[in-house]
Amino acid sequence: MKIAIIGAGLAGLSCALTLEKHGHSADIFEKQRSVGFDLTIAELITPILHSPIDDFIKFLSESHGIHLKPTSNIQRIHVHSPNETAYVEGNLGFINMRGNHKEAYEKQLAEQLTASPIHNQHVTPKEISKDYTHVVVATGEPLDTQQFQPFHIEFKSTFAGAVVNGNFIRNEVHAWFDTELAPKGMLYLLPHSDSEATLVLVYPQYDDQSVQDKKKLWKESVKRVSQTLGQELSTKEDLSIRDYVVGKCDYPRIGNIFFAGNCMGAIKPFLGFGQTGSILSGIYAAQDLCGLGDYDKLCKPLFKDYQNSLRYRKTIEKLSNDQLDLVTKSLRVNAVERVFTGENWGLLKVLSHLLRPFS
Ligand SMILES: Cc1cc2nc3c(=O)[nH]c(=O)nc-3n(C[C@H](O)[C@H](O)[C@H](O)COP(=O)(O)OP(=O)(O)OC[C@H]3O[C@@H](n4cnc5c(N)ncnc54)[C@H](O)[C@@H]3O)c2cc1C
Repeated sequence: MKIAIIGAGLAGLSCALTLEKHGHSADIFEKQRSVGFDLTIAELITPILHSPIDDFIKFLSESHGIHLKPTSNIQRIHVHSPNETAYVEGNLGFINMRGNHKEAYEKQLAEQLTASPIHNQHVTPKEISKDYTHVVVATGEPLDTQQFQPFHIEFKSTFAGAVVNGNFIRNEVHAWFDTELAPKGMLYLLPHSDSEATLVLVYPQYDDQSVQDKKKLWKESVKRVSQTLGQELSTKEDLSIRDYVVGKCDYPRIGNIFFAGNCMGAIKPFLGFGQTGSILSGIYAAQDLCGLGDYDKLCKPLFKDYQNSLRYRKTIEKLSNDQLDLVTKSLRVNAVERVFTGENWGLLKVLSHLLRPFS
């Protein structure tokens, strides 16, 4: 077996690591000069969105021998709608770094590998498949999947973001839902130290939002965060992405070509989180290659999660600001009750209950 992995991101590196653990090796092609894109941002992994795994970091360590160190754990998520605010508490997941930060997850994965990715190699699956028996497509780019099969695009997203300086509680995350601020989307703040946080505005591009609109929304977003946190945050937008595809393919594997991470459909449409799906799909592709499972079957729960998550998105997108206020208010009541009784609850269940009247 001669295996090529295209892309040294979360999916590609998790695949390579799992292969190594089972005595196989792969050539990993990475188009950039080093692992990690040229930007520092924080991302989030929360069990709220990928139940039933409560603690993904522990699960990776214990079940797959992959060890990741997050920047912090989350104990409280504040939800803000235009006129209401609520919070939920508990072990709500982790914040981790991405990109060129020294503790970025892709860098941590690469450090655990014996092999080194081959850098500055922009390759296509078609080009290299003649030299390999198996190819794992993990470029993070669904257009690469479209060369082989339809990739069902649910929507494309626009992102604006920046690392902001201020005073933050590092275990507390904030999310704002307001149609004026983030049309059908959200604004969120992930602290990665007491003085630094990543602020991201993300919304789907159903109506073609002009660049001017985005700048205005971003300015308003920074103002809103400053108001909520009661501190002046001045920052310039340094993350700008358009046309970020959320969707899924039909077949995780075609012949000896595997589609992993975003190329498979790892991003959950509800809030656009794809790290867990990317890592898991990379592991699953490797398990199949090692004769330990069937990739198509292993991916089924990921596709099921995808469909559930899509339902939440469709519901939340329909909500007006008044309805967002209503849901936030009910969340406060429900969350408080549950914290008080100490019940082990899933926020997704609570959310599903609260959103039912609107779905
Ligand atoms: C701004 C932003 C914020 C996000 N926040 C979160 C979050 O908070 N939580 C969460 O769970 N998810 C989040 N996501 C989604 C998450 O980052 C992705 O789902 C995940 O990184 C996808 O992993 P991947 O391995 O498929 O691709 P990537 O991690 O993007 O890796 C792909 C790699 O392939 C390389 N490559 C591409 N093309 C080629 C080629 N032709 N040849 C060689 N190499 C190539 C790239 O350089 C890259 O290194 C966010 C995404 C964005 C854009």
